[in-house]
This record gives sequence, structure tokens and C-alpha cells, in this order.
Amino acid sequence: MSDFKGKLFVFSAPSGSGKTTIVRHLLSQEHLNLAFSISCTSRAPRGEEIDGKDYYFISLKDFKNKIKSDAFLEWEEVYRDNFYGTLKSEVERIWAQKKHVIFDIDVAGGLRIKKKFPNETLAVFVKPPSIDELKIRLKKRSTESNEKINMRIAKASVELATAPQFDKIIKNYDLDVALNEAENLVSDFLKNS
Ligand code: 5GP
Repeated sequence: MSDFKGKLFVFSAPSGSGKTTIVRHLLSQEHLNLAFSISCTSRAPRGEEIDGKDYYFISLKDFKNKIKSDAFLEWEEVYRDNFYGTLKSEVERIWAQKKHVIFDIDVAGGLRIKKKFPNETLAVFVKPPSIDELKIRLKKRSTESNEKINMRIAKASVELATAPQFDKIIKNYDLDVALNEAENLVSDFLKNS
């Protein structure tokens, strides 16, 4: 029998904190053997996003049907009418490939996964230098309206308050340092759990 024990790595943070960059970097490190948990969302694709790679883009109606049929491990209405969720089948798909799962999800979803799989999960909070820096980063990204950007910033202050509930906090003040720290956290967890 296989002795593979799949682990879960949650990276949560206010959007614009750099967590997606960190997650992409970790995925590029083959020795960590990670695969990305593709979430479902009812929001429209942004920029160059691809269905089935960045997200499974589905309608609000389909999303609500999946909630009813208990298909999600966790889900959140992250912004009004914008639902995001992790399908149970996604974790099964990745573990069946003998890989560990890495999640780029919001803080409430991240903490929910930690609660469901306390021993298998390393929950990491990525902290931005400041709310002002977050505003600058979100504006630079310029894929969204000012209204949407302001919505994300308002949510960020609430999310920052949850940081102490995570297993580890990475301060993303210097990207290279943050990438290195993230890599070490993941390899240590794989070695020691
Ligand atoms: P974005 O619209 O920028 O892609 O994502 C908005 C927020 O939703 C981000 O914080 C992102 O991490 C989060 N998110 C993405 N997928 C999921 C998911 O499956 N569950 C939860 N709870 N949040 C998610």
C-alpha cells in the first residue's frame, strides 16, 4: 500500500498582499510536490484568467446548486454576489495524484479548512506592509473598477485582524525574503508532520 499522506497548505491574505505570487512560486518548486486547488467562483474571469486553470467559472445559479448538493468543503460569499468555494472533489483529485494541495483562498475559508483537517493543514497568513501599500498594489494591477478596489480594501482591514488565528504569518515586505520563508515553512511541515 502507498504510504503517501496528503497535506494541505492554505495561504490566505487580503487581496493585493502578494499571496498569489507566493503560491505560484511554491508550485514551481517541483521538490515540494504541490498542486493548486482550483476553486469555483461565480465572478467573471479577469484579464487572462483561464477556466479550469485559475478557477472553475460557473454561474451564480450553478454555484447555489452545488451548495445545496453539499459539494463544497468550504464556500464564502467573499464579495456581494461573488461566491468562491473549494469542491470536495478537488482535494480528492489532487491527493489521488499523490500530491499535496495548496490553496489561495480568503481567510474565513482558510480557517475552515484548518478546522476540518487540523493535523494535515498548515495555515499561513500573508501580511501586506500596510493598507496604503495594499491600495497602491491593487491600483497598479488595474484590472478592476475603483468601486471594486475600495470593496477589497474595506475587507482587508477585517481580514488583517484574523492573522493570529493562523499557524504562521509571513510578512510580505520584501518579496524574495517572503518567498524563501514560504518555501522553508512548507518543507519543514512536510518533513515534520
Ligand atoms: P479574486 O477575485 O481576487 O480572485 O479572489 C478574491 C478572494 O477570494 C481572494 O482572497 C481569494 O483568495 C479568495 N478565494 C479564492 N478561491 C476561494 C475559495 O475557494 N474559497 C474561499 N473561501 N475564498 C476563495
